[in-house]
Amino acid sequence: MIGLISATAAGAAARDRLAAAWPERTRVYEGPVGDAVRAAFAECEQLVCFLATGAVVRLLAPLLADKATDPGVVCVDEGGRFAVSLVGGHGGGANELAGEVGELLGATPVVTTATDAVGLPGLDTLGMPVEGDVAGVSRALLDGEPVALDAESAWPLPPLRAAAEGSYVIRVSDRLVEPAPHEVVLRPRSIVVGVGASKGASVDEVLELVEGALRDAGLSARSLAELATVDAKAAEPGIVEAAARLGVPLVTYSAEELAKVEVPNPSDAPLAAVGTPSVAEAAALVRGGELLVPKRKSARADGHASMATCAVVRRPGRGRLAVVGLGPGARDLVTPRATAELRRASVLVGLDQYVDQIRDLLRPGTLVLESGLGAEEERARTAVAEARKGQAVALIGSGDAGVYAMASPALAEASDDIDVIGVPGVTAALAAGAILGAPLGHDHVSISLSDLHTPWEVIERRVRAAAEADLVVTFYNPRSRGRDWQLPKALAILAGHREPGTPVGVVRNASRPDESSRLTTLASLDPATVDMMTVVTVGNTATREIAGRMVTPRGYRWQTSEEGAK
Ligand code: SAH
Repeated sequence: MIGLISATAAGAAARDRLAAAWPERTRVYEGPVGDAVRAAFAECEQLVCFLATGAVVRLLAPLLADKATDPGVVCVDEGGRFAVSLVGGHGGGANELAGEVGELLGATPVVTTATDAVGLPGLDTLGMPVEGDVAGVSRALLDGEPVALDAESAWPLPPLRAAAEGSYVIRVSDRLVEPAPHEVVLRPRSIVVGVGASKGASVDEVLELVEGALRDAGLSARSLAELATVDAKAAEPGIVEAAARLGVPLVTYSAEELAKVEVPNPSDAPLAAVGTPSVAEAAALVRGGELLVPKRKSARADGHASMATCAVVRRPGRGRLAVVGLGPGARDLVTPRATAELRRASVLVGLDQYVDQIRDLLRPGTLVLESGLGAEEERARTAVAEARKGQAVALIGSGDAGVYAMASPALAEASDDIDVIGVPGVTAALAAGAILGAPLGHDHVSISLSDLHTPWEVIERRVRAAAEADLVVTFYNPRSRGRDWQLPKALAILAGHREPGTPVGVVRNASRPDESSRLTTLASLDPATVDMMTVVTVGNTATREIAGRMVTPRGYRWQTSEEGAK
C-alpha cells in the first residue's frame, strides 16, 4: 500500500490524482502531517509526501531503522515539478516509484542513488537475493575498479561491467558459501525441492525435512525457486504453509505427468495413494535438472504416523531472449517496457542502424552484436545461441519486431530451454495511420510487396483478395531500386475494385527526423515517389479525404446506429 500525505490545496489536488489513478494501491492519510506521516510509515510499504523534503526528513529521521525494511519515500514539490526519491531508493522501491509518480503527474523523477544515476543496475535490484558487501562492491563498480564476476553456472544477468579478475568479487552461487570481504554473493533461483506428505503432516515436519536436505547438500535456502508436488497435495496444509514460510511458490503437477518421469527411487505407496510411483523426486525433476538429494523421509522419533518426503534438484539457468520492437523511429515512441528490456539485457543483437537508434539507452558493458542489412537468419541464430548459453539477450527490430521482422526467424530457431519475452512496438502502419488521420478506422490488412522470400503469385493473390474484400491495405516494402513494377501492379488490382479518387496515403520515415507524408488518390499516385522507407495506405470504398486528412468511417451505418452514441 502507498500512503499519500499532503498539506496544501495544490498538494491535495496532486494527491487526489494519484489516488484516482491507483485506487487499489493507495491510501490517503489526513489530519496533521506529523501524525499522518508516522501512521503511514508504520502501515505502508511506500509513502508519497506532497511536502517539502526538509519537512519530511525531519519527520522521518526518528522513524528510520534499516534500508532493507524501511518504506520507500517519495516527495513531490508544491508545483508538482519533481518526484524526489528520498529514502529506500532500492529496497523500498522509491526510485522506481519516483519514476511512476513522475510519469503520472508530469513531474521529473529525481534519483540520486549512484548506481541508477550512471545506468548500472543496483546489485539489490536484480530480482535475486544478495548477501555480503553490497555497498563496497557497488562503489567499486561505480568507481570503475575491477570487479570479478565468478558465476558457478550461467545465469541471465544484466551487464555488470565485471571483469575476469579483480579485488572485488560478484559471486553467483546457490551453495552455502559465506561472502568473503569485498564480495557479494548473488543467489540464483536454481533449486527446486519436490515434496510429498501424508495427510495431516505438519508444517514443521515438512520444513525441517526441506531445510535439513538443503543444509546437508550445502545449498542456500535463498536459492530456492519453488516447492513442487503432485496436484492431489495442492491443498495439503503442511506443504502449503511450508512454501509460504520459505517465501516460494508451490507448483503442482498431475500424477499422470509425474508418473512419466524417470526417478531413482520409485515406490508403491504413492502409486496406490495418488497414482504416481514418485512424488518428491518426480516433481523436482519434471522440468529437468540434476538430482542433488534423492528422496529422503522425515524421521520422527515420537512414533507419529505422518510422513513427509523431499528431493532436491538444481535446474540449469535459463537464458532469456527478449524480442523488442523499437517503434518507427522517434524516441518517445519506444515503449518504457522496451527500454527496460534493453537495459535488462547483457547481449544486444540487431541491425546496425537500429542499434544506433538506442545505443544511449544501453547499460555500460552491454555486448553489442550488430550486423548489416540482409543478415537476418544469422542475427536470429546468434540471438538464440547467446540465450542458450544462459545470457539475457535482446533482439531488436524496428516498429514491431514480430511484423515482417526478427521474431519469426528467431522463434523458429528457439528450443524450449530458453525463456522468450515479446515486447510489442508501434508498427509502421500505425505510425503512418496516425500521421494521415484515421485510415484504419475499419477492417484493414498489411501486405508486404517484397518478393524476396515470397513468390509474386502469392502476393498477388492476397492483393486480389484484399481488393475484393474492400479492405484498407497498407503496403510494406512497397518499392526499391531493383523492385519497381510490383507497386503499380498491386495498385492496378485495387483500382479494379475502387474509384480512381480513392484516397491513398504515402508516409516516408514516419516519426523520424525527415518524416514526410502525402495524401493522394489511386489515380494520381506516382510510384516513383515511393521507396523502401515508405508505407502506402490505400483506403476502402468508403474512405474519404476530410480537411486534408484520410478518414475511413467506422461502419457505413455508424452515424445512425445506436452504437454511434458511444
Ligand atoms: N517491423 C517493421 C517492418 C519491417 S519491414 C514494423 O513493424 O514497422 C520494412 C518496411 O516497413 C519498410 O520497407 C517500410 O515499408 C516500413 N517502415 C518501417 N518503418 C517505417 C517508418 N518509420 N516509416 C515508414 N515506413 C516504415
